Amino acid sequence: MNTNKTKKVAGSGSDERQTISDMPIEGELEERMGVSYADQAAIHAGGMPGAAQDMANTGCMNTGNGNGMGGGGAGMDGGGGGANGQGGGTPQVRTCATMTVYRRLLNEDPSYARVRDEIENLAGLYEGDQGLAARSGVTTVPVVVHVVWNMAAQNISDAQVASQIDVLNRDYRHTNTDVANTPAPFLPLTADARVEFALATVDPHGAATSGIERRQTTVTSFGADDAVKSQATGGMNAWPADTYLNIWVCQLGGGLLGYAQFPGGPAATDGVVILQSAFGTIGTAAPPFHLGRTATHEVGHWLNLNHIWGDDGTGCTGTDNVADTPNQGGANTGTPSFPHVSCNNGPNGDMFMNYMDYVDDPAMFMFTAGQVARMQACLDGPRASIGTAAGGGGGATSRQSSSPVVAWGANRLDVFVAGTDSALYHKAWNGTAWAPSVTGYEAQGGIVTSAPQVVSWAPNRLDVFVTGSDSGLYHKWWNGSAWGPSLTGYEALGGLCLGDPRAVAWGPNRLDVFVVGTDRALYHKWWNGSAWGPSVTGYEAMGGICLGQPEAVAWGPNRLDVFVIGTDRALYHKWWDGTAWGPSVTGYERLGGICTSSPKAVAWGPNRLDVFVTGTDGALYHKWWDGAKWGPSIDGYERLGGVCVGEVEAVSWAANRLDLFVIGTDSALYHKAWNGTAWSPSLTGFENLGGICTSRPRATAWAANRLDVFVRGSNGALFHKAWNGTAWSPSVSGYENLGGVISCF
Ligand SMILES: [Zn+2]
Repeated sequence: MNTNKTKKVAGSGSDERQTISDMPIEGELEERMGVSYADQAAIHAGGMPGAAQDMANTGCMNTGNGNGMGGGGAGMDGGGGGANGQGGGTPQVRTCATMTVYRRLLNEDPSYARVRDEIENLAGLYEGDQGLAARSGVTTVPVVVHVVWNMAAQNISDAQVASQIDVLNRDYRHTNTDVANTPAPFLPLTADARVEFALATVDPHGAATSGIERRQTTVTSFGADDAVKSQATGGMNAWPADTYLNIWVCQLGGGLLGYAQFPGGPAATDGVVILQSAFGTIGTAAPPFHLGRTATHEVGHWLNLNHIWGDDGTGCTGTDNVADTPNQGGANTGTPSFPHVSCNNGPNGDMFMNYMDYVDDPAMFMFTAGQVARMQACLDGPRASIGTAAGGGGGATSRQSSSPVVAWGANRLDVFVAGTDSALYHKAWNGTAWAPSVTGYEAQGGIVTSAPQVVSWAPNRLDVFVTGSDSGLYHKWWNGSAWGPSLTGYEALGGLCLGDPRAVAWGPNRLDVFVVGTDRALYHKWWNGSAWGPSVTGYEAMGGICLGQPEAVAWGPNRLDVFVIGTDRALYHKWWDGTAWGPSVTGYERLGGICTSSPKAVAWGPNRLDVFVTGTDGALYHKWWDGAKWGPSIDGYERLGGVCVGEVEAVSWAANRLDLFVIGTDSALYHKAWNGTAWSPSLTGFENLGGICTSRPRATAWAANRLDVFVRGSNGALFHKAWNGTAWSPSVSGYENLGGVISCF
């Protein structure tokens, strides 16, 4: 390292070993791995053959000495009003009970306020820098509509449901024709929310569905108490809120048009409720709420939008936390005339034509760019598991823990390696070509003693962590235009580290780094957007006595899950819930097993964890957290077969999708995948991807059904292969030679 070196004992002043009651020191080795462990005779039946495959056949890794480092629509708004044939009448003024529900949840659950604060912090970051959105394309949200009816007329038709989905798709894509009615001063502020909606085609059990389910109820009229969201109280239960937008359509009393639950609340009540006669554009939809805008408004809340006037009655102190909407007194109703001035917001006055005001359906037709930023923050944060984002980025990829390989966007790859001179080297795929060249690297200086670890918290942002020759932690970053502190310089972050650091970014401008100290305890430091905690060179002591490398993942904002192997070779877990470390700052949850690799974890959705290790039989083992419990049991494991050499790689490109890579005893690369239902090619089988690999595999996924895998070959060069959704390139067993002679990867 060529920056100032600050040698410092990991732990920021405390060099005493933490004594951890529930992480035993040597012993208790009789604990067996997994539910189906033990059949040592069968370990070679796992589909991972011992026969070597000659890499020369694949046209790669046979080039002898490497190249050396340092080389260089317009839609149509439905019109028809439709008969109001249902009971209960049609309200004439918009009323939404979202804030009533919000205040009730704040009272019921003390932790809700904290969760909401975190979501607001993320929204604020995105609102200030709209380039932060990880989902660069359009997110399609799967929708389930629960039609809960009492009188036959309230059992709205599939066509009426479809008409509502059409409205959402126009309004959230800025293709509604009436957006042209936006007054000229506000027209430049109108924006495409980049969200589309589709009735679910697969139900939570994996069966085909129309995305519409129905129930006749004896309840003649529902309120804002969430009774419609439970079978037990006359409604219908929610589908999993981490996968679906739940819309309940029913008769509402009290003049209520609908209500939503902001993100961060209980999953069982997550979604929106809409009055049946204010839903869609045909059938029972009745003026003045016959254009489907009640759902547009409520889904706005579901995506974390506030009422445009700031919910302070008619005062001028409330805010919707969006900068490009004018300060506004109270709600506007009916069909106001432009301009309507309040709170000294002349000459243009209130933006009453915004979907988040209270005007009639024909009078509302736009979101602003600031509102879109908040919605995108919601989709990257609390609703990260929802939908698939065309154009890459998004949930699963952004939650990946650090590795020498990262994808900060679609069709973008950055790879970091240590060369034989121990300096750091970098190369990047920009969608068209490798830079600086297919086999060339950008030299980044330093003396690197760990595998480089990189994370990306935003498009075109990279943070790289390595240990130096003094065992200290070092950091450098790419801000989109330049390397900080310089191309070959590093920020010294102190500590005395054993092995590789691990980093994770749970949100924009947030970094958490974990290292094992020379006392084998775990240490943590974090970047909060403005400073390193607990100090530039200090660390939070997290206890434990760790074998191998820690693993850290984040399944949501302000959430961390850390895994280590204890001296009994069992797996241990601790977590940050946004407020405190569980089970304690220095304590660990014991997850059993006898592990022969470091843990590898993946979080493909909120409150979901999958952890992989190898066992003493060399086979791959798996356990998972489903939001409520560990599967197959707290200390049990699912045996996935194989005889693995070294560490496991795991990546997820979509919810309920896992791709695993291991090196077999023949040094070839092997792959298996979980498709949501089953392991392929089989529970214990693997796909042989050839090669003679001399490093652990490193993989990343920059889009759905896209995989990029990197290994070091027998000549020390970097090799790459990719899955494009239909085939491996350059071939099933072939590799692209990316040059270099790598010492650490
Ligand atoms: Zn509302």
